[in-house]
Formats: sequence, structure tokens, C-alpha cells
Amino acid sequence: MATTDNLKRRGLMFILSSPSGAGKTTIARKLLAGDGDLRMSVSVTTRPMRPGEIEGKDYIFVDRPTFERMAAEEAFLEWAEVFGNFYGTPKAQIKAGLKEGQDFLFDIDWQGTQQLYQRAEADVVRVFLLPPGIGELERRLSSRGTDSAEVIAGRMARARSEISHWDGYDYVVVNDDIDACFAKVRTILQAERMRRARQTGLVDFVRELTAGG
Ligand code: 5GP
Repeated sequence: MATTDNLKRRGLMFILSSPSGAGKTTIARKLLAGDGDLRMSVSVTTRPMRPGEIEGKDYIFVDRPTFERMAAEEAFLEWAEVFGNFYGTPKAQIKAGLKEGQDFLFDIDWQGTQQLYQRAEADVVRVFLLPPGIGELERRLSSRGTDSAEVIAGRMARARSEISHWDGYDYVVVNDDIDACFAKVRTILQAERMRRARQTGLVDFVRELTAGG
């Protein structure tokens, strides 16, 4: 696949992790909307479908035995149990896509990030989003108004536990302004695409530039 400069390159795995309430979904949506080379990696999960979710777009929803069979058949690049449900990244589409210069966006937790990094360090870029402050996070997590204090406290505890994994990432961006945060994340993606090791077309290009001298 051509990049903006038309040189052949290898795709990358762009991981966005954050506690819920840090704006990850919005940033992911904006990235995907404005970038033809980036595709979402759709995970397989045993979690029940939520209202408004679309099979095959948000997740591939399966039952537990199916998930276990897929794991046994090594169909996943990584998988993890998150809050009592299983989530996994199917292998097939990713491997072929990377070779063709297709980039993939991953919305996975720190456990999946660790596994992907161990398996494919050179292809992985890890970005962690932080909320601007604990008060703001609490406000975002309780904005529905109908939730009980216990539910909100539970969400806050989860968020704190996710935040504790911030140092397993290459980039950490504080999301105090959605547009500014998006611009920073997009800059990271664009810069990472330019890494020499990913620009597989460079050797031939430079050979041509220097030929006949
Ligand atoms: P949710 O159920 O709210 O969609 O996602 C719960 C958590 O699971 C989020 O932190 C999300 O990043 C994580 N997650 C979603 N898909 C995967 C996956 O394929 N692998 C891993 N390790 N985590 C995932």
C-alpha cells in the first residue's frame, strides 16, 4: 500500500490504551476517520453485546467454548481476561495486512499490549492516554447521573488500576483537550510510519538515486 510519499513500507500495530473516561474511543474514531491506511483490529470477546454495538464492527461476539477453542488453536495474537470476560486479537488478518503496509489500531488493555510487544516488538507502537486529573475522571465516569455511588467507586478503582500500567508504553499523552490530544496522537502515528526500518521501499529507492554515479 502506498504511503503519502509512495514508498513501500511495512504496516504497524498502533496500540491505544487508557482507563475508561480518558477519551480513547473519541480519539480512535477521529484517527480512523481521517486516515485511509489505518484499520481497526476487531477483537473477539465473550462479553455480552451492549445496545448499539454491531457484530463484526465493534467485536466478534462468541461464547466461552468457542473462545477457548480459538485460543487452543492459536488463532489469537494475544488474549486476556479483562473484568471477567475474555478478549482476543485474531491473528489472520493482521499478519497479511502488515506486510502490505496496512496499519492497525488496537483498543486493548495493558495485558494485551505486553503480549503483542513480546511477540512483535518491531511492529508495535504503544500509546497511553491519561485523563487530565482525578476530579475530571470522576466527573466523566459519573456523567450518566443514574449510577449509584458504588458503581462509580468501582469504575474509579478500575481506572486507577489501569493507570498504574502507564509505564509499559512508548508514549503517554494527557487528554486535557480532545483536539490537542488527537493532534499529538496523529503526530506520533505519522512519525512512526517514517521510521527507516518500516520503509521497506527505501533500499531500492536509494539505489536508484545513487545509481550511475
Ligand atoms: P469493553 O468491554 O469495555 O469494550 O472493553 C474492556 C477492556 O478490554 C478495555 O480495556 C479494552 O481495551 C480491552 N480489550 C478489548 N479488546 C481486547 C483484546 O482483544 N485484547 C485485550 N487484551 N484487551 C482487549
